[in-house]
Amino acid sequence: MRLGALEAGGTKMVCAIGNEQGEIFERVSIPTETPEITMPKLIAYFKDKEIEALGIGCFGPIDLNRKSETYGYITTTPKLKWANYNIVGAFQEALGVPVGFDTDVNGSALGEATWGITKGLENSVYFTIGTGVGAGIISNGKLLHGMLHPEGGHVLLAKHPDDTYAGKCPYHRNCLEGLAAGPAIEERWGKKGIELADRKEVWEMEAFYIGQAIVDYIVILSPQRIILGGGVMHQEHMMPLVREEVKRQLNGYIQTKELEDLDSYIVLPSLNDNQGIMGALKLAMDELELAE
Ligand code: ADP
Ligand code: ZN
Repeated sequence: MRLGALEAGGTKMVCAIGNEQGEIFERVSIPTETPEITMPKLIAYFKDKEIEALGIGCFGPIDLNRKSETYGYITTTPKLKWANYNIVGAFQEALGVPVGFDTDVNGSALGEATWGITKGLENSVYFTIGTGVGAGIISNGKLLHGMLHPEGGHVLLAKHPDDTYAGKCPYHRNCLEGLAAGPAIEERWGKKGIELADRKEVWEMEAFYIGQAIVDYIVILSPQRIILGGGVMHQEHMMPLVREEVKRQLNGYIQTKELEDLDSYIVLPSLNDNQGIMGALKLAMDELELAE
């Protein structure tokens, strides 16, 4: 079976052809410009590839409500040229195949849950901590949607006692994204994260916020494993600090075998940065099954 996969990001569009085993045969990366410029290139890539379905993991917010008139649209994105754009409709019309659609981070969560480190688990959370923060949630074996889709980077957090930085999110300031995404680190400390590797206080504060958010997710969703992806997690020395913070802030309240082994409970992604594109393949598979 040949399937198309698209990881639609704010800076680049990764297009790939693969199969139902999660194997990727080929891929290209196309810069994200306006829909007028970029969509014809994407369609040209997929057009002659004989795919049976396409899956898209997309930056958001997006409309995932199948009963809505704007299902398959990118909605109120700050990337204004893409606001109110019917991306699913455009591909359906041009390619004539079923098009699966979800958020980029849900795609990554799905890729890991299908072929990676959360395979076989009914409940898991995948965070991406990069330019923004997102959370993809698998609950009772399915991606969690709800009235829109989770916007898990915007959980509100208590400030670290030493943090004088107001926060980057224009909506809430003290949310996880506003306090802990890459641009917040850069603005708070005056340098990019990658240049702050040896500043202990930077990563202690970062772990304080990520750990606090994880505690919120643990008590609400009771995930069996949590994955932390995204550029900021390339600071590998931070992972042990995050685990310590989770333990400290949970304060012994929940006792499970998973929490006794935090090294295998809070983990890095396992699919060599293919989790997003592989998740898009699974979105294509699931949509094909729905259509049959
Ligand atoms: P995006 O979220 O745009 O898809 P990334 O996940 O790579 O892309 O996140 C980019 C953000 O992560 C930037 O703010 C960047 O400064 C930060 N970042 C990237 N690499 C590192 C690193 N090694 N250490 C700390 N921060 C990093
Ligand atoms: Zn926010």
